[in-house]
Amino acid sequence: MEIQADKSPPPMNDKASLICDPHLPGCTIGMVGGGQLGRMFAVAAAAMGYKVVIFTDAENSPASHVADQTVVGDLNDQAAIDRFAEQCDVITLEFENIPATTIARCRKFAPTYPSASVLATAQDRLVEKTTFHDAGLPVTPFRKVHDFDSLQSVGEELGWPLIIKTARSGYDGKGQHRIESASDANQVQWSTATEWIAEQCIQFEKEVSVIVARTPDGRCETFPIFENTHANHILDISVAPADLTNSMAEEARRIAVAAAEILDVVGLLCVELFVRGDKILINEVAPRPHNSGHLTIEGCETSQFEQHVRAVCNLPLGSTKQRTPTAAMANLLGDLWAPDGQAPDWMAALADPGISLHLYGKAQPKPSRKMGHLTITGQDRDAVVSRLTEARAKLPQADRS
Ligand code: ATP
Ligand code: MG
Repeated sequence: MEIQADKSPPPMNDKASLICDPHLPGCTIGMVGGGQLGRMFAVAAAAMGYKVVIFTDAENSPASHVADQTVVGDLNDQAAIDRFAEQCDVITLEFENIPATTIARCRKFAPTYPSASVLATAQDRLVEKTTFHDAGLPVTPFRKVHDFDSLQSVGEELGWPLIIKTARSGYDGKGQHRIESASDANQVQWSTATEWIAEQCIQFEKEVSVIVARTPDGRCETFPIFENTHANHILDISVAPADLTNSMAEEARRIAVAAAEILDVVGLLCVELFVRGDKILINEVAPRPHNSGHLTIEGCETSQFEQHVRAVCNLPLGSTKQRTPTAAMANLLGDLWAPDGQAPDWMAALADPGISLHLYGKAQPKPSRKMGHLTITGQDRDAVVSRLTEARAKLPQADRS
């Protein structure tokens, strides 16, 4: 799509300066991004009586199916940004790789959360880790690297193996390599990215995440801690609450709230953490709803999506208490679809009446693509997790050939 020539920005709207007035139901919330997070946000916002306008560069996006309106356009296109933002009383987003100039332009029409400076930090692993480290929060030991020699010397300093990541644009483990030893260090194709980070490979016992909601006037609320397992670098299963001692859970919460305050996030911040012995380290943060928090829809008195609405609208935050002692979520990836596109056997998975099915309305199932998830709640952690994995195991269609 054609990028518009620069024109003078619209005058600062009154709405943009009144940041601490609540935006009450009936207002219009703008959501930049049309994926599954935007879709579940729009459902929660509609339930509370808000209108939602989506801004996305994709036709037929998951969020567009449930929103009041969708503006489709290049995220850099000023005319498209203006068409979107002029309809909104408050604006938020569902992914962090949005041009800062887009957010700055939105901000001229309506309060926009999180801010361009939060995005700038969260878009770059080096800036993000440096910010937290300098503020005294524990992060995975890391160094900037750019070539074979710099990687060698970081290996000598931090020890092998190392995890090498592109500083920007990675998700679901894309752009990451595990480098076992000095002799492996020539595997990296340095020219595929402009900036790289090398991290010590943490032999963690658990991965957990904490979602913090924070309002424009600085009120914070955390969700129960999620314990996450990954398969092929993609989140597979989350369980709440994480199996942590009270003092470790308290420490994880303290770190997450401190991270939200240091960044001055408004909306949600998910803080991904590695746990090893009595140590907790920040892996990365995401200033938006997070896959590990999907179980809050059934599992908590307020879902992460409703809490996101409440936070950006400066309403009282909802109770994050779990409804039952345990809740668990399993992702459904495109790999569950047959090569001919035949959908999984939903009837079999739903035979357990405690299973909830969420599908994101994506037209094309592809391997590794997040297509939906299953959630279950209950009393006993082991029983809940085994019912969940059994339900998912029933999904592949029986071979009828
Ligand atoms: P996502 O989009 O799923 O959050 P991502 O591409 O942003 O992923 P990370 O969260 O940094 O990348 O890494 C994905 C997974 O790889 C982590 O959840 C963890 O299991 C593993 N991993 C990443 N960095 C390290 C590390 N330094 N030590 C050990 N394991 C790591
Ligand atoms: Mg991650």
